[in-house]
Amino acid sequence: MIVLHSAAQIATPLDSGDFQILNDAAIAYDNETIKFVGPSKEVLDQFRKAKKINVAGKVLIPGFVDSHTHLVFGGDRSQEYLMRLCGATYQEIAASGGGILHTMRETRAGSPDELTEKALSNLKLMLKNGTTTVEVKSGYGLSWEHERKLLKIVEALKKQTSIDLVSTFLGAHDFPPEVSRENYVRQVIDEMLPQVAEEKLAEFCDVFCDQGYYSIEQTREISNRAKQLGLKIKLHVDELADVGGAALAAELKAVSADHLIFANDDGIRKMAKAKVCAVLLPGTSIGLKSGKHAPARRMVESGVRVALATDFNPGTCYSHSMLFMMQLGALLYRLNAEETLTAATLNAAAAIDRSDQIGSLEPGKQMDCLVFDIPHYGYLFYNLGVYHLETVIKRGKVAWNKNQKQG
Ligand SMILES: [Zn+2]
Repeated sequence: MIVLHSAAQIATPLDSGDFQILNDAAIAYDNETIKFVGPSKEVLDQFRKAKKINVAGKVLIPGFVDSHTHLVFGGDRSQEYLMRLCGATYQEIAASGGGILHTMRETRAGSPDELTEKALSNLKLMLKNGTTTVEVKSGYGLSWEHERKLLKIVEALKKQTSIDLVSTFLGAHDFPPEVSRENYVRQVIDEMLPQVAEEKLAEFCDVFCDQGYYSIEQTREISNRAKQLGLKIKLHVDELADVGGAALAAELKAVSADHLIFANDDGIRKMAKAKVCAVLLPGTSIGLKSGKHAPARRMVESGVRVALATDFNPGTCYSHSMLFMMQLGALLYRLNAEETLTAATLNAAAAIDRSDQIGSLEPGKQMDCLVFDIPHYGYLFYNLGVYHLETVIKRGKVAWNKNQKQG
């Protein structure tokens, strides 16, 4: 048993829906499980024999859950980013041979070892930015051979990082150039999904349902097949235009619908009723430079659980930092500090169907905890671009510390 005591603050969302801020607080944990959180004196009295670590002057919050990433890819699209800074749109870049298909070519050409090494170095950066659980999508293979290669890499990565990884099959990310769109949809439904299920290569199935990508009908057919095979549903929807994706996510009882920049009110109401989490990606939203952002306030007020994620990918958002997303999210979406921190932790855990295990500092949850050298948790938002993270604890073990070199 270990007790971290005398923390300036422990700030955490709670499963009850409340947000708890305790001053002069302590947390007791045994191996990887939290046993008690409360005032320091009370916790120290109750766990007299525990190993005690003084964290005076520090703030503790739950580890970040990044519920939407495209972690495994080959190549680099920094040039595209610079083109966008000069005014090129996402669609113009895709039409000129850039975008997802550019990464597809580089990912297909990459050996499993090269792709694994690159993903591992990115996971290290995520860890040192406080992320303790990451959802990872395939989607740059766009053929069974290469989609399987990516999902197998994710399986192998799970054994090489202290971050917990959650796999999502995103074969329907774009259309490969070598087959017709209709044929590719048939391949996803009739060939890839049954293989994904049989080899247990993913927990979720995702589809890029948007203008110029997968239609509502195609998305519905792919998702229903995935559900029959036992996969849970996530969707990229309404990022480029309002295609009715939010309502479709509700109809399919998706675990999450992501992006939602153009989501309409009817879709938002339906998502609330069907308990679909909204995963908002502020880094991508500002990167697209459309000036339009997801209607987060309306979602919160309609009762939708709102999560934040990086959308880490080589094109539209190359960021490993959930703290940066929180600062962006608070400013762009008019979310308050409690709503924003909840979006990066507990609601993000709900968006990957893990809120019973992670996302808050409460008894029974996994001890995934971040220690910051700041006087109160408001500094997470107040100190723009500077983060003061000192220690990352994952499953009760120090996974990263700013003074130690960690693997
Ligand atoms: Zn994405």
